[in-house]
Amino acid sequence: MKIDGDFNNIDALGDDHIGSSSETPLRADAFELSNKEKIDSIKEDVKHILETLGLDLKDDSLKGTPNRVAKMFVNEIFGGLDPNKKPDASTFENKYRYEEMLVEKNITVYSTCEHHLLPIVGRAHVAYISNGNVVGLSKINRIVDYFAKRPQVQERLTIQIVKELQNVLDTDDVACVIDAKHLCVNSRGIRDIESSTVTSEFGGKFKEKETRKEFLDYIQLDTQF
Ligand SMILES: [Zn+2]
Repeated sequence: MKIDGDFNNIDALGDDHIGSSSETPLRADAFELSNKEKIDSIKEDVKHILETLGLDLKDDSLKGTPNRVAKMFVNEIFGGLDPNKKPDASTFENKYRYEEMLVEKNITVYSTCEHHLLPIVGRAHVAYISNGNVVGLSKINRIVDYFAKRPQVQERLTIQIVKELQNVLDTDDVACVIDAKHLCVNSRGIRDIESSTVTSEFGGKFKEKETRKEFLDYIQLDTQF
């Protein structure tokens, strides 16, 4: 969806969870401040919000909140905005000549809705077909986590994971399905506890019906330990 200057209903766009691009909309000067400077600045902003709400920040329980939230934003839940934290892209040669599909399923997703700054919690299922390169399995989890740790739109997260793995593995044959609950839907607004959102992105061979079905069948398998 394209947003242009005529679009004057930005609130409705956010309320409907419609994203504008598959790239995270970062400004050119996004990394001019150090992480330490960002924490110091955000700390004052959080303080301002809590004080505006009428809270007494001299209270022992609230005293540390601005600093705690600022550190959490910069280092943890939005840490994936920092390109230095991107998982390194090393791959291995596929020595086993394994040419079938590899599926990594039930990867935990903790992200944050960029329209309400509330959690998105769910599972990602990722698959690829090797063209000679393979990645360590934990690398897939780390890639999911890196892109999840941003203000996100679930569709964009799904696409970013696929694009990154296509890059790393040097193949189009990558797919991702995410099934997640948005706390902004579950806990406020319409307050629907049961609903979850499923998004998918199928690249290369996964656009073919058979391959896609095989992947979706693997996801359905109930893995017992
Ligand atoms: Zn939301």
